[in-house]
Amino acid sequence: MIRHGLPPDDHIFPSATKSCGILASLPVAQSLHCFAYKTAYHVDLFVGSSIVDMYGKCCDIDDARKVFDEMPYRNVVSWSGLIYGYVQLGEDDEALRLFKRFLVEEENEGVNDFTLSSVLRVCGGSTLLQMGKQIHGLSFKTSFDSSCFVASSLISLYSKCGVVEEAYDVFEEVTVRNLGMWNAMLIACAQHAHTNKTFELFDKMKSVGGVKANFITFLCVLYACSHAGLVEKGKNYFELMKDYGIEPGTQHYSTLVDLLGRAGKLNEAAKVIEEMPMEPTESVWGALLTGCRIHGNTELASYVADRVSETGAVSSGLQVLLSNAYAAAGRWEEAAKARKTLRDKGIKKETGLSWVEEGNRVHTFAAGDRSHAKSLEIYDKLEELGEEMEKAGYVADTSFVLREVDGEEKSRSIKYHSERLAIAFGLITFPQGQPIRVMKNLRVCGDCHTAIKFISKCTGRVIIVRDNNRFHRFEDGKCTCGDYW
Ligand SMILES: [Zn+2]
Ligand SMILES: [Zn+2]
Repeated sequence: MIRHGLPPDDHIFPSATKSCGILASLPVAQSLHCFAYKTAYHVDLFVGSSIVDMYGKCCDIDDARKVFDEMPYRNVVSWSGLIYGYVQLGEDDEALRLFKRFLVEEENEGVNDFTLSSVLRVCGGSTLLQMGKQIHGLSFKTSFDSSCFVASSLISLYSKCGVVEEAYDVFEEVTVRNLGMWNAMLIACAQHAHTNKTFELFDKMKSVGGVKANFITFLCVLYACSHAGLVEKGKNYFELMKDYGIEPGTQHYSTLVDLLGRAGKLNEAAKVIEEMPMEPTESVWGALLTGCRIHGNTELASYVADRVSETGAVSSGLQVLLSNAYAAAGRWEEAAKARKTLRDKGIKKETGLSWVEEGNRVHTFAAGDRSHAKSLEIYDKLEELGEEMEKAGYVADTSFVLREVDGEEKSRSIKYHSERLAIAFGLITFPQGQPIRVMKNLRVCGDCHTAIKFISKCTGRVIIVRDNNRFHRFEDGKCTCGDYW
């Protein structure tokens, strides 16, 4: 068009920037921006907004911001484009700040499904349930709650915040669903160990929804199989991918290895790795090492550790697994070497944190933390609970704490793991009958898992804990994960 001497206008520019955003090509984005500047279209509301949106999608937030700040007028596209840019980079606070500014400054300019789903993603990622609910309200008022994009984000928000019932409600209310929405619901089911529901939805999405499963869908069902220990079913789904014309990726392989490893079929898991058509990734090796640890197969673990060590630099997470594998096999020298590598890199273990939402406030706790204003009451509550739990038959299992600490210290520090502080805070703060939702950045240790079961029994509370991997819903002394996590 340009070669034919036809200059682009305010209709053509946004089309070009949109395509460029999809391709996420920064050099092309810069050329387009430059061209708009030369033709003075950059001051046009539609063109300027589309440039902000384009830079946001190309992850060039500085240029997106600059164009945005220089615009004399803005519309929903410029606001949403910039918000999305921040969300994509994980700058959640700035995204939310902008969203609030948008609502205040642009009274006449309504939000759209893109704005709403972007901010809902932020709320889901940071488990901000109250704010997420308010945005759900806004979606309802603006009738965008029936959009598949908004609904998918709502499903994932509610699921990530541990309120899977609400996720089901959103799913049922929207009857015309796209693939993303089916996948969002499947992920929610798998994370909450609603295993049969996962399989049911998988069947339904094709027969009722007329939507074909993709590689994410298969990851969900494999994940569900893995966490329920359903080996045969998992293998069937893995095979089924071929019928769908989907080539299994490394993530599918690592889930399959995880499934086999957890179920104790370690040799079969090792064979899957040998036969993989691509290089095994760290998560594939990690899955096998975890299987070895669960089933105490020190021989295979140390063999795997050798194989992994040969590949050179590994992440700190895998390095820890290596060191543990060598230690378990009694190969102290290698274990020490693996530990030293970790120390040399200056890698510390991630601090375990748990948090609870109270209204619009988030209360965060670390293990043994006494900085909270209600600290005294929290520790009193734990003391009181401890006695009740012991009467009910709870015995602390201190093998989950680091070996360096002596016995007395062990039982004390394990008693004050961050999730227990968060739960105690919930118990003294929330009215009886209100479930307590705790989020944690690391895996729940075995003893806390047992302890929380007792707490749920002794107090009659429903306690939902999301760790870095999945959800646990404790009720009346039982957990939905069936102790398989
Ligand atoms: Zn613990
Ligand atoms: Zn559990």
